[in-house]
Amino acid sequence: MSIRGTLYTVSAPSGAGKTSLVNALLQQCADLTVSISHTTRPMRPGEVNGINYHFVDESEFTAMLEQKAFLEHARVFNNYYGTSRDWVEQTLASGQDVILEIDWQGAKQIRGLVPECVSIFILPPSLEILEQRLTGRGQDDPSVIQHRLAEAQLEMSHYVEADYLVINDEFDIALSELQAIVTSNRLRQENQRQRNANLLRDLLS
Ligand code: 5GP
Repeated sequence: MSIRGTLYTVSAPSGAGKTSLVNALLQQCADLTVSISHTTRPMRPGEVNGINYHFVDESEFTAMLEQKAFLEHARVFNNYYGTSRDWVEQTLASGQDVILEIDWQGAKQIRGLVPECVSIFILPPSLEILEQRLTGRGQDDPSVIQHRLAEAQLEMSHYVEADYLVINDEFDIALSELQAIVTSNRLRQENQRQRNANLLRDLLS
């Protein structure tokens, strides 16, 4: 039996610290990787094409959409975002677990397509701290930040749809909670059965 990885969705309002937490989680957990989305959003200072996102223009995005290249896609803050179907399917088939850092619309599509996926929602500890984090990033102008704050509250209202809820107050605690989710999922009997097929066969022979 080939080992198939688990698909995780991680959603959060902008400014909740999702990307930093996911990057730290990747450092801690073997066989866990994150999907790099395609987006039509302009690149921010410090971002690198192919590392943070695959940055494409709208005609490229539309062409990929028509080719059914996306497992899910959504329009967020007037930009389009999509997850590469081939990359996710190949990576899961190789036995690696995959994280999709996507908004609530994308997570909903994934739950419909892959009911066994594990969905996680990250929230900030207060609205004040969320505001500070959005302003502190200093990469967008104030009107964009105000718009993002309103969008953040809309995004946060979807926490009820997720399997797990993590509050990012203390970074290290939130990180260990994410690790606990991955570990407990890996210990599920059906996943352990795949990983330990030889052992189980020997024990029961
Ligand atoms: P940002 O532009 O700040 O990097 O991301 C804006 C929002 O788009 C975040 O909520 C992020 O999770 C979401 N997002 C990023 N990539 C994707 C994707 O491939 N699909 C969907 N549905 N949302 C995405």
